[in-house]
Amino acid sequence: INTIGVLTSGGDAPGMNAAIRAVVRMGLAKGKRVMGIRKGYNGLINEDIIDMNARSVSDIIQRGGTILYTARCQDFFTIEGQTKGANICRKYGIDGLVIIGGDGSFKGAAALSELGINTIGVPGTIDLDINCTDYTIGFDTAVNTAMEAIDKIRDTSTSHERCSVVEVMGRHAGYIALWCGICNGSEDVLLPEKGKISTKQIINNIIANRKKGKKHHLIIVAEGVGGTEKLAREIEEKTGIETRATILGHLQRGGSPSAVDRMHASMMGAYAVDLLCEGKSNRVVAYKDGKYVDFDIEEGRNMIKVIDDRKFQVSQILDKYTL
Ligand code: ATP
Repeated sequence: INTIGVLTSGGDAPGMNAAIRAVVRMGLAKGKRVMGIRKGYNGLINEDIIDMNARSVSDIIQRGGTILYTARCQDFFTIEGQTKGANICRKYGIDGLVIIGGDGSFKGAAALSELGINTIGVPGTIDLDINCTDYTIGFDTAVNTAMEAIDKIRDTSTSHERCSVVEVMGRHAGYIALWCGICNGSEDVLLPEKGKISTKQIINNIIANRKKGKKHHLIIVAEGVGGTEKLAREIEEKTGIETRATILGHLQRGGSPSAVDRMHASMMGAYAVDLLCEGKSNRVVAYKDGKYVDFDIEEGRNMIKVIDDRKFQVSQILDKYTL
């Protein structure tokens, strides 16, 4: 490998900058030329490519977002788009490419690898929804952001003796919701992985809690379950308790990355460069059972990950105290 390219793709996540920095600095330390590709696969196809040196990544480890920008790219779903991408890599001498992004971005990486460009995927998404890894860059910061926001909602909800229904991100996965369920001590948490809890059951729970003297009732809804506004309206109609819906939205994707995110991003970025220098391709970096490892992209995508049942059980038990 002579020249390493790096790009961020799909949804952004705090810590992506730390990963870019690690790829650039580790690449340079190994005597490679490093190029940044802006705006994901779009930037590759449009030749939005810049030279990176050690200074290009100064003062970014603490910043949210991604200095390389990110995008979704329709053209890359086609063989023509992928071939164009591979040819542009060759034109710039990029023989190794690190793709920081989610599952969709790794499919693009696998396609480029088929076309002769060595590619390595680094898991970057707040959703934690990449099957082969216990950790994805951005999750810890996003959970902390959501948790702090929900603490604030809880303050005002308690003062007014209201019920709050808060929706957190996660796409089709409920990891952020499950963590907030425990860390915010919510009364209920609705996860896509756990099927639907009936509105009637939720309402009965609220009424029972009111009778016990609870001043607030906090329900966390995962994005993959949705229906947050409707649920809030139904609760208010059926219980007479003032109920507010809050959809936290994109604030969960921003902010300075936590130490956990900076650490994983730095280690995974460095690992990706090691793999390229060993001549590997079509691999995804993962954190599994406390170690950094790598898998074939296809093999990694076909692995199965299940949400932690014990955490869900504990959240339910701790939420339903009987004083
Ligand atoms: P996140 O889940 O955090 O949003 P992601 O990487 O899964 O990240 P996607 O929108 O699924 O986000 O994918 C990002 C980009 O990767 C797409 O816009 C497209 O350019 C490329 N991509 C996705 N799927 C494929 C595929 N099957 N073949 C080639 N390229 C793909």
